[in-house]
Amino acid sequence: MVNDLPMTVTPRSSVPGIAWPALPDPRTAMLLALGWQLDRSQWWTEADLRAHQREQLAVLLAHAATTVPAYRGLDPRAWDRVPILEREALIAAGDAMLSKGYPAAHGPVDEVTTSRTSGTPVRVRASGIVSTFWHALTLREHVWHVRDLAAHLAVIRHVDTPAPAPDGLRLRGWGAATAALAPDAPLSVLSVTTTTDEQLAWLAHVAPDYLLVYPSVLDAILRRMAATGAKLPSVRGVRTISEVLAPATRALCTEVLGVPIVDTYSAQEVGYIALQCPDHPHYHVQSERLLVEILDERGAPCAVGETGRVVITDLHNFATPLLRYAIGDYATVGAPCPCGRGLPVLTRIIGRRRNMLTYPDGRTVWPVFTVACRQAARYREIQLVQPTRESLRLRVVPEGALAADAPAALTAALQRVFDHPFAVEIEIVDALARSPVGKLEEFVSLV
Ligand SMILES: [Zn+2]
Repeated sequence: MVNDLPMTVTPRSSVPGIAWPALPDPRTAMLLALGWQLDRSQWWTEADLRAHQREQLAVLLAHAATTVPAYRGLDPRAWDRVPILEREALIAAGDAMLSKGYPAAHGPVDEVTTSRTSGTPVRVRASGIVSTFWHALTLREHVWHVRDLAAHLAVIRHVDTPAPAPDGLRLRGWGAATAALAPDAPLSVLSVTTTTDEQLAWLAHVAPDYLLVYPSVLDAILRRMAATGAKLPSVRGVRTISEVLAPATRALCTEVLGVPIVDTYSAQEVGYIALQCPDHPHYHVQSERLLVEILDERGAPCAVGETGRVVITDLHNFATPLLRYAIGDYATVGAPCPCGRGLPVLTRIIGRRRNMLTYPDGRTVWPVFTVACRQAARYREIQLVQPTRESLRLRVVPEGALAADAPAALTAALQRVFDHPFAVEIEIVDALARSPVGKLEEFVSLV
């Protein structure tokens, strides 16, 4: 990573009188030293990575057992007996999850609140060390995907500072991870609450090199481009974050923009979980940072090709130690990657249990329906809600006027792809409700 940083990027010197070679400030030096180690460990075997994880885990468990009320009495040698931490239990435990003996050397603590689309948010405290790891993995991701850190990045997402259409915000520097290496890189930001047409006009105007966006927002932009023939010739890379990326959006991006999507799997409680391989459209678990288990319904590890619950142990957050935390996502285990990296592979990240369709007999599946709906009718956006085991409600944001036969065609399409005669109600809406941070779920079960 460090050696593969673009030649245009050099750290600034923090020592008076020394211009070159630079002697960076301690924070940047730590970041680069961490990057140097990550460069090497990515090529270790999975067994070597596990051995180093166990070494870190022993320290973490001893810390949790002695300083975290919820883990008092935990036997630090008995990893197998550490119970799965469900989301509800984490919320219910409250302050009992916080360490009473947090090491000051881990830096100041920040409170992190998750941005789930509904339900009670999870609150954890994260140490300054955790931010350093976040920045190092951000750099790894940039290097893996050969980005020019001095180039122009455009971001459409939830922002705390107003960034309305038509101009958005113009800033310098992509963020804290690259601040010391490319402080002047142009950054343009637009709020996700703008319309697709406003977003497209803004992108054409700012003409960025790279685009960072939620998958659902990108999908709408790509469909608009396909419909209107609009082009964004300056864009040479697209990165998606926060939501589950549908395979159809990947294909559409290559077709319409001519560049592949690079997707990122992260969560606010724990940071980066898996990053897309430089050579393949699957994900590498960030094993230097987290111990990630993919477990079946009985709690046994899933084999290659199987899909199970994502269970995470944060190896470095000593402020709120999260041991075997069931974050609520599901993922599919992949075979070792031909790229040679020993970091375990996930072939697919799947949404939450509440994003699963339930049949009247109790069976559950991951619903795949957008391609069939696109073939059935013309619309801007849709969202499918399952109020009961027997019924579905399809919320449709029409593109102009919805065709008279569209409701019947959409109903038939859903009944066909799910192979079941669900009662389907079509609801025409002006817009779909996004979460407070602008996320959209294409399927929501209320069952
Ligand atoms: Zn790979």
